Parts: sequence; structure tokens; C-alpha cells
Amino acid sequence: MKKIFLLKALIICYSLQLFSQKVPQHVEPPFWWSGMVHNELQIMVHEPGISTARVRIEQPGIIVNQVVSDQNPNYLFIYLDISEALPCTFKIEFLDGKKVKYVYKYELMKRVENSKNRMSFDASDAIYLLMPDRFSNGDATNDNMPGALELADRSNPDGRHGGDIKGIIDHLDYIKELGFTAIWITPLLENNQPQYSYHGYAITNFYKIDPRFGSNEDYRKLVQIAQNKGLKIIQDMIFNHCGHKHWWLNDLPTSDWINQWDEFTRTSYRMEPIVDPHSAKTDYNIMVKGWFDVNMPDLNQNNHLLSTYLIQNSIWWIEYAGIQGVRIDTQPFAKREFISDWGQHIAKEYTYFRTVGEAWMGIPAMVSYYQGGKSNHDGYNSNIPSLFDFPLYDAIRGAFNEKPGWNEGLLRLYNMLSQDFLYADPYNLVVFPDNHDVSRISGTISKDVDKLKLLLTFVFTTRGIPMMYYGTELLMDGNDQEGHGKIRLPFPGGWNDDKINAFATSGRTEDQNKIVNHIRTLLGFRKANAALHYGNLKQFIPHDNVYVYFRYDDNSTIMVVLNSNDEPRVLNTKRFAEATNGFETGIELFSEQVFEIAKDWVLPAKTSMVLKLK
Ligand code: CA
Repeated sequence: MKKIFLLKALIICYSLQLFSQKVPQHVEPPFWWSGMVHNELQIMVHEPGISTARVRIEQPGIIVNQVVSDQNPNYLFIYLDISEALPCTFKIEFLDGKKVKYVYKYELMKRVENSKNRMSFDASDAIYLLMPDRFSNGDATNDNMPGALELADRSNPDGRHGGDIKGIIDHLDYIKELGFTAIWITPLLENNQPQYSYHGYAITNFYKIDPRFGSNEDYRKLVQIAQNKGLKIIQDMIFNHCGHKHWWLNDLPTSDWINQWDEFTRTSYRMEPIVDPHSAKTDYNIMVKGWFDVNMPDLNQNNHLLSTYLIQNSIWWIEYAGIQGVRIDTQPFAKREFISDWGQHIAKEYTYFRTVGEAWMGIPAMVSYYQGGKSNHDGYNSNIPSLFDFPLYDAIRGAFNEKPGWNEGLLRLYNMLSQDFLYADPYNLVVFPDNHDVSRISGTISKDVDKLKLLLTFVFTTRGIPMMYYGTELLMDGNDQEGHGKIRLPFPGGWNDDKINAFATSGRTEDQNKIVNHIRTLLGFRKANAALHYGNLKQFIPHDNVYVYFRYDDNSTIMVVLNSNDEPRVLNTKRFAEATNGFETGIELFSEQVFEIAKDWVLPAKTSMVLKLK
């Protein structure tokens, strides 16, 4: 009996010892993979007083290169050489003398099969942009979660409405049936901010999906289900700032982790000083180091510990979730050398991966600076293959609202595209008429159905990768002057108690269905015609607000005619002979009519024609 007691006592003691070996508060990344190109792994450990601990790892194939403790005694940065490591779980022990104080079981998983060659989005795709809080509430039980600083409130246009990952999964077929092949979802990571947390751009945990959207596992499931349906998920990533409720802010790893000022200093939002050969350092500093907002501390990517943290975080999400693209928020606001470094790391890890940057400027000379491959005056190369075409966005918003003039009306589109020589690759720019930050396009054209159809024909057939913001198909309007809530209204039918379900044909108005059908027809045609993906663009100067251009490759030629006038026009096609030579007819997509090249064509008012030439 005594022996059994002794044995029991020993087991209890042993268990107590195990229990006394606590897990550090934060260990990031929480796990990694073997077989990655990035094989010197930086692990951030946060725990009071951890810096004096001795780090012990006894695992074949894993070498501790360096343990860095910089300034704050509550942080350790461990650098591991994992180039020879096989998939395994190993212990990271933190010792005080001989006593093990903390233990973390670190997992190196097997790299996802062929993830290096995972396909990404490109010009064969069409992107649907949605805001998860405003799209659909698939799980009402997660609207309010324990510990959340902001509760759901559907009556507040700037509050959380409860949309989530489940809501997106539930409507993937809707997006697919519209004809889209990729979805850019605005940020899903934890934003435990007291206000405006719904928009997601103030991250408080870089390794966790906001529980009000779902779990990390739910996100991975979404990507998988979407991929099986032929839909690529593009993740929104932010490197410039985080939320002021991020746990870092209670205990900064280093004093220069964020850019700090004597008094609050907002960024000027003026990107010119970055490229300006005559710029003043003062202007540059305010732009790059000023805070995006009072609740968004400016991350200092000059700090190597932080820049490595951010690069690893991106790789972690790409590998973990299986996403097929990244959208980079506020690209020029982060240190440009960091962006370049980031782009290079991603490209090394994922051969065909595509990233698209937001450089919100109206001038091609400025935007083109940020596209990878451009030979810039200062030698800068961002390594970011795709950018949003903000200059063309400006042109689109003016073009369809104007009478023709020397520079007005559809000439805006022509003029803007004529500056494509400034870009390293204009065919990789993302073309869009609006997004979640600006007044909705339908409002700017007074919800004119014909105009919107005309405009969407341009967006879906000109060069580049087209993108549309959710709700455009419903002629949703909303002016950003009335607050961002107005341009981010919930999708009708996304909530159980909604009276209208616009996901269904029967729930939409006649006008809405006209737009939906137009999008379906166009995107179906686009998908089937490679000339609209990477085919060349040949454009003719618009005459009298009639704009004609061609997309062509070795196999086919597509002719697009836009008549932006309120009256019909007669089109003589002789002027386009260099593009129509060898063709006799064109089959028009929407009317299914056959047009003879040799004859004059009557163009109905405010109408587009898309013809496949025969
Ligand atoms: Ca919900």
C-alpha cells in the first residue's frame, strides 16, 4: 500500500512540476512549416521577465541561431535555423538556472503540398469586393463575443452589424453565378477596438480571425470551399499600422516599434514627397511616420524585428489558409524598402503569387512608381506586381457623366489609357469604378441603369483585372460625405429578419435584375474569351462621345463600342479598318445580332456593344 501511495505522490509531484511550467503569454508565429524557403524562423516570445531566461531546444535538425533581447525585458526573439528540420513538434524551454520556468510546444508542420506553385489571381479573373460585417450574417450567435469591446448594433451605421465568414460561405454560389472568380474580403483579423471595429483596418491580433467573424479554422474552410467552386480569396493585409488596442501597445517590444511623436501627428496622406526628387525630409517624415488615425499607431518597419514579424505573418496566412492573393492596404504609407523586401520574400516563397497594392493617387506617373518592375528614377522596385488603377478610376467617374469635350466625356478614358507607357505592366492593374472608401458609383450616375451597364462594359472589357464592389449589382448608392456607413450598407437578404432578399432574382427590382443579367452576360463572355484577359488593347480616339476599342490576340478579336450619348448615333466603321481588316461580321454579345463590318451601324443611346469579329 505504502508503495502505491509513494507512486501516486510521485505522479502528483511530477504533474505539478509540469503544471508549474507555464506557457508564455504570447508566442508568434504560433507554429510554422518545414520545407519553406523562409527557413530562418523568428519567434517572438512575450512574458514578464522572459529576457533573462535561457532558451533550450533539443531537437535534431533545429539550430538556435540567435536569441535577441532588445530593450524590453519582457520579450525574447528566437532565431531558428530550420533548413534541415523535418515536420515535428518540439519543446522550447525557458530556464531560470536549472529550473524550467516556461515551455512552449512548437509545431513544424509539413508544408502544404505544392503550395509553392499555388495559382494566384490574374487578368483572367474578375474580383468581387465585399465587407464581411456588411455582407451576410450567417451565424447570429457570434455577433457578440466574450471580451469584445464593441457590441453589435444594427441601428448604428458605423457599428458592427454581425456579418461573418459563414455568411460569405452561404453566398459563394451567388458570387460565382454573377460570374466572378475572385473575392477580395476586407480585413478579417481581430479588431478588438471600442469603435469602428467593423471595418477591420485596426488589427489587434495578427494571428487571429476576429471571433465575431469566425475562427481561423472557419477562414481556412471558407478558402477551401471557395477554391472548390473556382473562387479565389484575396486577403487584405495592413503593414502601415495596427489598432491602438493591440496588446503590443501595453508593453511595446521596443521603443521604436511604432513611430512616436511628442504630440499626436497625423500623416499628411500626401504621397508626392515619397517620389518627389525635390521633396523636403519634413514632408516625407510626416507622410510615412505620421499616424493614419488616432486609433491607428504607425508601425515602424525600419525595425528589423518588426519587419521580419510582418513578412512571416503574411507567409503564415498564405500557407495556413491557402489564399490566392493579397491586397496591400495603404502601400505608400509603409516604408517603401520594407514593401520591396516583403514582395521579394513572397515571390520567393510562392512562385506565381499575385499581390495588389493600394496607392491612392490620381496620376499614372505616381501610381506607376509603386508597381514592381518599373525602372524608377531612384532605382526603386516595389516587387508588387499589381496595383489598383486609381487614375483610371477617377477617369471612369467623370467620363460617363459628361458631354463630350476636348478632354471630357469618354475622352477621359482614352487619355488615361494613353499614359499606360508609364507602367511596368498595365495589364496587371486592377480596374474598378468604386470601392469601400468612396461614394458608390451608382449614386454618381444618378442610378441610371443604362449608364451603369455602359460603364460596367468598359470596366469588364478594357485592359487589366476588373473589380466590382458588392451592391453595385443592386444599384446601391451612398455618398461618402454622409459617412462611411452609407457606402457600406448591409446587403439586403444577408440577415434573417431582412424583408427583402436581393440574393434571389425574385427579391430584386426589375432594374437590379437588368444589371445582374448584364454582369452575368459580360463576365461569362469574358471568361470564355482570352483576348479580354491579356489580349492587346487598341483604342481609337473617341469622336462625339463614341469610344471604340479592340482587344485581340493571335486567336480572336473583340470589338467594343460605347455610345455615351443620350441619343442614338450612326457609326461608320471605316476608321477602324486597321483592326477590322480580314473580318466581315461581328456577333454582338447582348443583342446577339450580326453586324456587317462594311455597313454603317446604328448605336442606340447610352448603350455598349461587344462584338466578336468573324
Ligand atoms: Ca454573426
